[in-house]
Amino acid sequence: MERSSKIYIAGHRGLVGSAILRKLQADGYTNLVYKTSQELDLRDKNQVDEFFAEEKPEYIFLAAAKVGGIVANNEYPADFIRDNLMIQTNVIDAAYRNGVKKLLFLGSTCIYPKFAPQPLKEEYLLTGELEPTNEPYAIAKIAGIKMCQSYNRQYGTKYISVMPTNLYGPNDNFDLHTSHVLPALIRKFHEAKENNAPYVEVWGTGTPRREFLYSDDLADACVFLMNNYEGNEIVNVGVGEDISIKELAEKIKNIVGYQGEIKFDTTKPDGTPRKLVDVSKINALGWKASISLEEGLQKAYQWFLDNVAVKTN
Ligand code: GDP
Repeated sequence: MERSSKIYIAGHRGLVGSAILRKLQADGYTNLVYKTSQELDLRDKNQVDEFFAEEKPEYIFLAAAKVGGIVANNEYPADFIRDNLMIQTNVIDAAYRNGVKKLLFLGSTCIYPKFAPQPLKEEYLLTGELEPTNEPYAIAKIAGIKMCQSYNRQYGTKYISVMPTNLYGPNDNFDLHTSHVLPALIRKFHEAKENNAPYVEVWGTGTPRREFLYSDDLADACVFLMNNYEGNEIVNVGVGEDISIKELAEKIKNIVGYQGEIKFDTTKPDGTPRKLVDVSKINALGWKASISLEEGLQKAYQWFLDNVAVKTN
């Protein structure tokens, strides 16, 4: 990408898209295009075609998607499969018809088979049954990856797909009902401190292990891959280390400065015992995550204080 290339960031208000936009701006890319979903409904082919005819983007970061946790996936499976299939089909096909130079599609490590060995290697995709609770979402994302690969084979395009591990950062979802563990714990410890609550309830036994990638690191990897990778195969993006939920809770407790106890609510599910990706491929390409969990947690807590806590107080 040249600094003056026209780059479209689809989904620029989300956790991933907003990080990619910040990264491109910080790196001096000046010709960036982005639209809210009110301005441009990517599920509508006519609107997408009109947008491409008008803007003619050269590069695309396709970070627009319908995402959510287990509760949302369970309640709205039709929305998850439909919206994602529509968004990615409209954008990928319009990219081809308008001669886009390169497109980066966001997959997710939660679309690997449920019982795949850990750490997850890229070649494990489509080698086993999916997690039933998010199967419609996963099928849509897998279709997007296959669409990129098929266009590359048939039309000689350069569409690449990345597989980020669990993400956190600015614009995360802090709703306790639907969020993932890391933003949930930031909120719980903060509110317990504000209310002088004697303890915080952490779900499950605390023994499951998870890997957490700060969204700015993912954005850095996406820009790196856009500039340095042309392969047809998917690429994992992670930190290559995991941590137990208990250790995570203790770190967040310290950062927030909460003095009370941690209680484990073992009536709540642990979920999968471990989730870690193999990052040897992206490391071999020359990229490594650089934001430590401590630094990322500090930043995420600050963002929560500035943007979420102020509204709920
Ligand atoms: P997962 O990675 O798909 O299992 O999704 P989550 O991020 O929701 O959960 C990861 C782990 O954190 C599970 O073992 C949860 O039981 C545990 N956990 C502990 N406290 C919380 C909480 O307050 N919210 C969530 N979502 N998970 C929690």
